[in-house]
Amino acid sequence: MSNPMRQLPAVHTIMEEMDKCIEGQYEGIGGQHIPKDVIKEWVQQHLEELRSDILDKPSSFEGVTKEELQQNIFQKIIKDMKSYRPFKLQRVINGTGTVLHTNIGRARLSELAVERVVETAKHYSTLEYNIDAGERGSRHDILQDLLLKATGGEAAMVVNNNAAAVYLILRGLCRGKEVIVSRGELVEIGGSFRVSTIMEESDATLIEVGTTNKTHAYDYKDAITEQTGMLMKVHTSNFKTVGFTKEVSSGELKEIANTNSNGNGENIIVYEDLGSGSLYPFRHDGIGEEPVVKESLQSGADIISFSGDKLLGGPQAGIIVGKKALIDRLKKHPLARVLRVDKMTLAALEATLHTFVYSNEVEKENPTVRDILQTEEEIERKVDNFLGELEKLFGALGTESITVGKIKETSLIGGGTMPTVERPTVGITLSKLDYSPNGLEKLLRTLKIPVICRVKGEHVFIDFRTIAEDEISLLVKNIIEVGKA
Ligand SMILES: *Cc1c(COP(=O)(O)O)cnc(C)c1O
Repeated sequence: MSNPMRQLPAVHTIMEEMDKCIEGQYEGIGGQHIPKDVIKEWVQQHLEELRSDILDKPSSFEGVTKEELQQNIFQKIIKDMKSYRPFKLQRVINGTGTVLHTNIGRARLSELAVERVVETAKHYSTLEYNIDAGERGSRHDILQDLLLKATGGEAAMVVNNNAAAVYLILRGLCRGKEVIVSRGELVEIGGSFRVSTIMEESDATLIEVGTTNKTHAYDYKDAITEQTGMLMKVHTSNFKTVGFTKEVSSGELKEIANTNSNGNGENIIVYEDLGSGSLYPFRHDGIGEEPVVKESLQSGADIISFSGDKLLGGPQAGIIVGKKALIDRLKKHPLARVLRVDKMTLAALEATLHTFVYSNEVEKENPTVRDILQTEEEIERKVDNFLGELEKLFGALGTESITVGKIKETSLIGGGTMPTVERPTVGITLSKLDYSPNGLEKLLRTLKIPVICRVKGEHVFIDFRTIAEDEISLLVKNIIEVGKA
């Protein structure tokens, strides 16, 4: 009896045979070129699997021929090719309606921001070069002016993300000291960010005061000792306590800090972690109750921090604004070097801030602001455009296996901001013969440019709030493909 192990073809034999079969046309979904080395990796992997299968169960391979094993590998390679994606980080279409969806990249950048990123990435830049003096400059200076104009603060700096900002502020200003925080504000925010954990890492001591629903000014006052370095306020971005509640504003905290000495001659710092940090007054459009950064600073905090890629609609970053003396200490801290942002982030953030400060059309130019503000009528127009385009192509195709309908729904803002806000929206329901709603949702995820969406009852629901005007043709193509599948 022949040893099935002997029948295993060599890698180069399979590669040569495959070359003949498909004439060197290695293509994945949508005709993407597949590098030969990727195919080789697959071949090696499948050979390895076969080898261990043969070792495990030699009896089931009795009498197997070289050709059969080769065919077996060919079949697997064809499957691999169909699901091939060149990059792990790839574009998706957001059909969830959630504008700041943490899992699929939060904010998308404005045209200007993208332009600035490309320009800065492709060429040399003034990242740390003072062009007037012809000498070394500081990357901190790039955003300083815009941030001060946008927020009304004395000084500003930018770090990797808001979690890093919280860490730097606690470690840089309160290491070994006590930081008083209300129990009602000790939140966990998406992506497992907990103030208490960051506090522990920073070597500041967390002093919890008040209760989950109520914290009074006297709770803070009573907790002040010689060790107190800071009164910290955390914006409870992703949940809302309703009913019998009381919290102390940063203005009141400033009062308390001013009138209650810790007895060691040092000022008690008031810090507010704003989380989302909006520069746009969504509240004035009746959307949520998010404070604008300027107001938070004016109301009394010595220092504040917020994210770059939440309501600001920019790149991932943590923005710190406040009293110059405090910010200067942070800029000199060794951690500032550890947590610094790269040039592409600076380019994107500068463009984003530029639009807020100087453009009269933030509502059009910043995709996050635009998508949150979008009215039902505006969204419905996009749905109708889509349905019109689909009908033209669909009629010719004569596909009857899929059903498309129009439906009104509500969408969330996401990113842990404005948790109770539901915006009226319009979208489409989709169902397909012989597919469960979950099966169809999965099918939409296997497309060349996957569509991420929700299952609602018997249908898949695609919310058009987050479908950009220029994504409609692409979505039509996708739905046609789903129809054919
Ligand atoms: C989102 C959030 C953070 C974390 O910000 P990242 O930019 O995601 O690091 C910290 N604090 C609050 C209150 C938040 O809402």
